[in-house]
Amino acid sequence: MKNSSIFSRWNLRQVVNASGTMTALGASRIVPEAQEAMTEIAGEFIHMDELLDRASDAIQRLTGAEAGFVTASVSSGLVVAMAACMTGADRGRIMRLPDTEGLPTEAIIQVGHLVDYGTTVELSLRLPGGKPVPVGSVSRTHDFQIESAINERTACVVYVVSHHTVQYGMVPLERVVEVAHARNIPVIVDAASEYDLRGFLEKGADIVIYSGHKFLGGPTSGMMAGRKDLIEACRLQNLGVGRPMKIGKESIAGLIGALEAWEARDHAGIRRDEDRRIDAILEGLSGVKGIAAQKIPDPTNNPLDRVMVHVFPEKAGMTATELAEALANEPTPIVVRGHEAELGHFLLDVCNMRDGEETVVCEAIKRLVA
Ligand SMILES: *Cc1c(COP(=O)(O)O)cnc(C)c1O
Repeated sequence: MKNSSIFSRWNLRQVVNASGTMTALGASRIVPEAQEAMTEIAGEFIHMDELLDRASDAIQRLTGAEAGFVTASVSSGLVVAMAACMTGADRGRIMRLPDTEGLPTEAIIQVGHLVDYGTTVELSLRLPGGKPVPVGSVSRTHDFQIESAINERTACVVYVVSHHTVQYGMVPLERVVEVAHARNIPVIVDAASEYDLRGFLEKGADIVIYSGHKFLGGPTSGMMAGRKDLIEACRLQNLGVGRPMKIGKESIAGLIGALEAWEARDHAGIRRDEDRRIDAILEGLSGVKGIAAQKIPDPTNNPLDRVMVHVFPEKAGMTATELAEALANEPTPIVVRGHEAELGHFLLDVCNMRDGEETVVCEAIKRLVA
């Protein structure tokens, strides 16, 4: 039985992931250092509190934060951070949630940050009893709108970093922090898909939450970094709303392993490999009928580029949406980054591709539009 691959044993289709760190496809390849740590701890007993302390040490080292905590995901991290801003370290309050009688519950958030990443940011804030307070409009938020939304019920301001957010007209993090801190309100940053492990804290954020399973290449997990008292309040939520989101020893160990690997990783070398794959795709798609490919930088300034594939239906015989669907229907599905397909293009992300897969993708596109 074990001689067969997991794909045939469990009747799963292997996927060519040209879409990036998408959780729906398994997020990222778990790096060997994380896999080894997970296997090593799997059959052992430890005090979970000690393991969480070691995770906090590693998170502090990499982020420069005062403390760190690990929960199940960024989605969970938002729940836990929202709860922490409402209850502080008061165990009575923690165990009473989502009953929020008498607690500050409001989470101020710019309308352009109310994104859907598979579920909504709003849902995570509501789960522990928080109340999102959207400020501004879909195209513009002023700092004074944040300022005037702050009152005695305000628990926090939430700031989302993502290609999904409105990329213009929003109040930048530095200014959000100034406005919030002037009234002693903490700022929570959702940086799920960001490489920069220090910048948001350096700009004054009080809690920053990263997905362990995206660029870090760890197991599914939510890494929280921030102010000591708030992170302690996050950790105490395991007595309350954090409990259903609690993470096991294997995932905590895996995240620590991934962080150690991140410190040692040849980031420039990986970038060079990615650039080589991007160049191969640009070359492979040049001259293909109805297709124009172009290299574009990451919208949130992560150190990576992607290939934007424009599809001209009158020449290609199909729209960008149809081509993306046709690729997904290949015997070995090829999944592209298609959230903008209605605009006539999709993106190819090489960060999770294996060598040779760039050729597979180009050949499939050529065949499908022929
Ligand atoms: C991926 C993503 C999430 C969800 O992260 P999980 O760790 O999978 O819950 C939340 N916010 C943003 C901006 C994301 O990109």
